[in-house]
Amino acid sequence: MLSGLRSRVMRFLERPGSASLTPYLRLMPEIASREPALAVLADGELAAVAREATDDAGICAVGREAARRGLGERPFDTQLLGTLALLSGNVAEMATGEGKTLSGALAAAGYALRGRSVHVVSVNDYLARRDAEWMRPVYDLLGVTVGWVSSASATAGRRRAYAAQVTYGPVSELGFDVLRDRFATVLTDPVMGAPDVALIDEADSVLVDEALVPLVLAGAVDSDEAGPDMAELVRRLRPGQDYQIDEDGRNVHLTDAGAGATEAALGGIDLYTDRHLGTLTRVNLALHAEALLRRDVEYIVQDGKIKLINPARGRVARLQRWPDGLQAAVEAKEGLSSSRSGEILDSITVQALAGRYATVCGMTGTAMAVGEQLREFYGLEIAVIPPNRPCVRVDAPDRLYATAKQKEDALARHAAAVHATGRPVLIGTLDVSESERIAGRLRRAGLSCAVLNAKNDAEEAAIVAGAGARGAITVSTQMAGRGTDIRLGGTAGDQGQIAELGGLQVIGSGRHGSSRLDHQLRGRSGRQGDPGSSVFFVSMQDDLVTRYVPDARPPAETDRDGSSPDPAAHETVAHAQRVAEGVSLEIHRNTWRYSQIIEIQRGVVLEHRDRVLRTDAALAALARRRPGRATALGAVAGHDVLVDAARQITLWHLDRGWADHLSYLADLREGIYLRALGRGLSPLDEFHKEATRAFAGLLAGVEERSAESFGTVQITADGADLDAAGLRRPTATWTYLVQDNPFSTDFDRAMRSVARALRKLLAT
Ligand code: ADP
Ligand code: MG
Repeated sequence: MLSGLRSRVMRFLERPGSASLTPYLRLMPEIASREPALAVLADGELAAVAREATDDAGICAVGREAARRGLGERPFDTQLLGTLALLSGNVAEMATGEGKTLSGALAAAGYALRGRSVHVVSVNDYLARRDAEWMRPVYDLLGVTVGWVSSASATAGRRRAYAAQVTYGPVSELGFDVLRDRFATVLTDPVMGAPDVALIDEADSVLVDEALVPLVLAGAVDSDEAGPDMAELVRRLRPGQDYQIDEDGRNVHLTDAGAGATEAALGGIDLYTDRHLGTLTRVNLALHAEALLRRDVEYIVQDGKIKLINPARGRVARLQRWPDGLQAAVEAKEGLSSSRSGEILDSITVQALAGRYATVCGMTGTAMAVGEQLREFYGLEIAVIPPNRPCVRVDAPDRLYATAKQKEDALARHAAAVHATGRPVLIGTLDVSESERIAGRLRRAGLSCAVLNAKNDAEEAAIVAGAGARGAITVSTQMAGRGTDIRLGGTAGDQGQIAELGGLQVIGSGRHGSSRLDHQLRGRSGRQGDPGSSVFFVSMQDDLVTRYVPDARPPAETDRDGSSPDPAAHETVAHAQRVAEGVSLEIHRNTWRYSQIIEIQRGVVLEHRDRVLRTDAALAALARRRPGRATALGAVAGHDVLVDAARQITLWHLDRGWADHLSYLADLREGIYLRALGRGLSPLDEFHKEATRAFAGLLAGVEERSAESFGTVQITADGADLDAAGLRRPTATWTYLVQDNPFSTDFDRAMRSVARALRKLLAT
């Protein structure tokens, strides 16, 4: 059996660029040889053995026994290969349905038994809880404690969950807890311990697709001076004349006429000088809100609040906001009282969050395609684990059509034909509106189907679990039902019968922006050696093609059903996908370069903050600057009160200073192309230089302002009265994910500004 696995491994892999499995394979005989002795132990004895046997083979052997007893599932050798890959800090690539949940749990338990503290990172609340509860019997038998957090967890619950040796949590909550903990003003406040091991499920989604999503902590503070009413100002601008909207509707910009009118309305300033960077940003935000964000399409107004609609999922997106300035601009447009006075106190990207852990490892069905990114951004290697049973799914070549209409007609006919044979059909679409359209068509043709839009993770998991049933048709967007296995026969269990019919047919309604996402969809079929097939329907009018190969020629010849075998046209689609992949990689790389310096600076601030929190460094510094005051207060107050007063004052100014610095950097980022290009310099270098300069004085400035406050704030035996001195901490904080960054195309915007400046120059 072992030699069978080894030869399969040799045939299947040792692909260039992947970690070698040879050292793991060598351990398999030893793991197997320990099995009989473990099988006769009492449950209570297993944990004792686990505590002793913390070498790789020992962890696998005891883990296998615990899984057999706790779940009634004896881990396959391939699953243990996955566990070993995780234990050595790699990303394990294992196909859908291969049992990654269990592989991951054994690795997490292994780390815990070695004294490490582990966060198992999931993509949503539902999966974090499901996996922790599902694997609990295994952890119990191994004597390892386990907990989970979700967005609904209260503080005490979080504290308990993080105190466990292994904690499951959605990536957003882990990030929010990091942000909240950073603002602790008392040593006992933090709920989370030091980051140690992160074991990331769906590692490609988390580390690549969502890596740049900023998680934000915002706070409500007293709003400052009002400033000109930008919403009112841009409302008076004339569409088409004063501003123009790009074809793709993602960008709006002032024309020369509009810029002139705006400058006049603001009292004749020159918007495009450094001095008015902040004003220009506010004008752009107001314009973005006015011209691009449509009420009841991009957002709704409910209970006097703006609620975002997630375009991919077509529902109100809980927890999400636009970047702060834009949110405020939309509120102003709707005449709502601004929820900002809220300002960003701090934010962290998923990538930076991962960077905090001493050890990162992960698992996913599709890692090789992003091997380059995983290596470049995280230093991770991929171990490609062969399937337990060889995959026999048939992936048919794309069916290609000239028009979107021809494509959808053919797709619907195909789905109906496969359905008529009794085989279950899963149709993967690119967005919600397409799902609705296709489902509507099928229903009109008398076929019933389930539509999933990732609206409710738990509910949809149940529907997906039934998607393998005889005659089932399921229409789903990429996000829906993630992490749920599609078993042939569904929950009813006529697995053999469905397999005989040919298994699950996956139909893609178009290629994704990355071939990896295509593979994710195909991988829903053919799990654990099941039969199955997949096919994608594409057209020359697909967004992917029109966007990335705008001059594509129509396909040459056409088959009877309208599909074209024209190799040139097929190559065009493949090319469009490669271009899209290249663009995403470039955006990722660029954003990472910008954020890197911010991360370094944040590190310095946090280190300082930690020192202030843990030691009397703050008092020492303030007493040095205000010796008289310290001595005078020392007499009334006692040392401890003084230490705390100095600490609270310093923390206030430090947090304030950091939030200001972040907002300065956001403005800087927005304007940097303009400045740099004007002087023939590299924008990134300029950004680094400016950011470094601005940061250089930050800590000294904080100390100086803290010393001033120390001189004036009233300090009694009860402590320092910061509120009375106007040093108010946010009365409430909240967290959110940034939905869409309007500055992602700041390059275009800057280019327009440059062009305008040139025109101005030439006109004079
Ligand atoms: P993945 O995350 O790799 O897609 P899951 O962890 O969701 O896969 O597991 C898929 C299914 O396989 C689950 O129903 C699980 O119970 C089952 N399974 C996992 N390991 C085994 C095993 N060793 N023996 C039998 N069934 C298993
Ligand atoms: Mg999974």
